[in-house]
Amino acid sequence: MLKKPAVFVLTFLSIFVLKTIGFFRKKSLLELKPNGEKSILILTPHADDELLGCGAVLKKQAEHSAQITLVNMTDGGASMSRLDSELLVKIRKKELKAVCRLLGINNIIHLDQPDGNLKPNEEIIKRVATIIDRIKPEIIYVPFFCDFHRDHVATNLILSSALKRSFHTCAIRAYEVQVPITPLLFNSYVEISDWLQIKKNLLRQYQSQSLVLDNVFLAWNLNASFIQKAKNVEVFFSCDSPTYCWLIDNFVSDEETWAKNFYASGNSAKILLAYLKGLRLRKKIADHMQGAGLLRSAEPSSTYS
Ligand SMILES: [Zn+2]
Repeated sequence: MLKKPAVFVLTFLSIFVLKTIGFFRKKSLLELKPNGEKSILILTPHADDELLGCGAVLKKQAEHSAQITLVNMTDGGASMSRLDSELLVKIRKKELKAVCRLLGINNIIHLDQPDGNLKPNEEIIKRVATIIDRIKPEIIYVPFFCDFHRDHVATNLILSSALKRSFHTCAIRAYEVQVPITPLLFNSYVEISDWLQIKKNLLRQYQSQSLVLDNVFLAWNLNASFIQKAKNVEVFFSCDSPTYCWLIDNFVSDEETWAKNFYASGNSAKILLAYLKGLRLRKKIADHMQGAGLLRSAEPSSTYS
């Protein structure tokens, strides 16, 4: 793992290079606010992804009476920890339960798939499709498919197949976990400054995890520097569900190949390398999205405030 000074030197150099090439032009992006949604679904590949990626927006929506269902895809037994796997699974479920209670998420469904080896198999696709048909969410949150972690990619493949099977359509908000969505691709945000300290405190609930939080805090602030009038943000790639399925069909056909493109572990240097390695592919996706007008106005109008 990189030592802190090295992380900051790398970060400073990256910011300097990005500034030099004019990367920090501020964009006027869509600010997402609760809009009377009644039913929301979030897919989290691992307990803690939901809080890192969209904890503040979920809390805001719960405060506006949205019923939120969280589907925890994996059992969490393979995360970096000194604990025995069986004990770790139990502890992570407890941690997730505590965080969900504080966020106002009232329904947790555990799919208990093997951590690190989530597969888009028939049984799981069917279960997710059944959940979507039952709760008919207006918004589904999922980690953005352009990610280094194969479980995050598999979650997207499962969602895409489940959506096609269920005939339900809704808004998708793809959230950022550790790999930056990047200003090339995010098209909406939530200002979280009023909730920043609470979110940081909540992350301490995940004591079993050795999260590299300095980078995460920096990302919330750094992403805001690309957006007019923003200070700290959760960013999203938002679009309607048929469009999101189309993107997955066309850019993520094979989770193994995709995972090799982006693979890294929680190590800061590897995340940076994985990001750089996937840059050309991200640019290709961004060009397509730009051409289709998807980076300007992306959600069904009913979900805009
Ligand atoms: Zn994860």
